[in-house]
Amino acid sequence: MKIARAALLMALTAGCATSPTGRSQVMLVPDSQMNAMGSQSFQQMKSQTPIESDAATNRYVQCVAMAVAREAREQTNVSDWEVVVFRDKTANAFALPGGKIGVHTGILPVAKTPGQLAAVLGHEVGHVIARHGNERVSQGLVTQGGLGALDAITSSHPRHGTMMALLGLGAQYGVLLPYSRTQESEADKIGLDLMARAGFDPHESVDLWKNMSAAGGGQPPQFLSTHPSHETRIAALQAGIPGATATFDRARASGRIPNCVR
Ligand SMILES: [Zn+2]
Repeated sequence: MKIARAALLMALTAGCATSPTGRSQVMLVPDSQMNAMGSQSFQQMKSQTPIESDAATNRYVQCVAMAVAREAREQTNVSDWEVVVFRDKTANAFALPGGKIGVHTGILPVAKTPGQLAAVLGHEVGHVIARHGNERVSQGLVTQGGLGALDAITSSHPRHGTMMALLGLGAQYGVLLPYSRTQESEADKIGLDLMARAGFDPHESVDLWKNMSAAGGGQPPQFLSTHPSHETRIAALQAGIPGATATFDRARASGRIPNCVR
């Protein structure tokens, strides 16, 4: 019964897509709705978490984040990214649909160089490019048999209460819950390409994950907890380095030389 319902749900909406690495994805939520959920969650975080006021730190993070986000413009249809540095000791960073990037101050002692920070942010923006949030929400809708919720999205006059419930579901599945390992590996691949196109040396992604591993100790930081093992991840990144280095060389030759001073 559940399967029939899910099949019906998919047939009704035909929400299929292909990820940048060629994987097929179920996408049931309009991007405009995902962007609204991203913006709303970001707004909430800004009201709940202290924001870093140090000008030099903000300038530095903005410089790296904007260099990376600029390269994602075409793939996300977002031209206006918002970057906020949160005063939070956990080694974390995130990007949300709608062009929102959050960087915790706690990531800076781990991502020690502009290139390493670019590797973190390339990965996070990679999740947005591949629409992983939409995929999570869609999976949530299917497993919860969310036909009613789906009605609310597709109806031109959604009731306010239903929309709010949907936003709650979106926050749960699209923003707060961890990504799958498949999504993590995909974000790594996209991130490597993004950082290289922005003019950051892709080798620094490997340095970053070595630092992450060292910083983790017995208890991995939040940013790492759901991610593939360091060894798996570093091996996959290393396999992508030759291609990314060619991209990096082209980017530098065409004048992509970010000058982000910490
Ligand atoms: Zn990730």
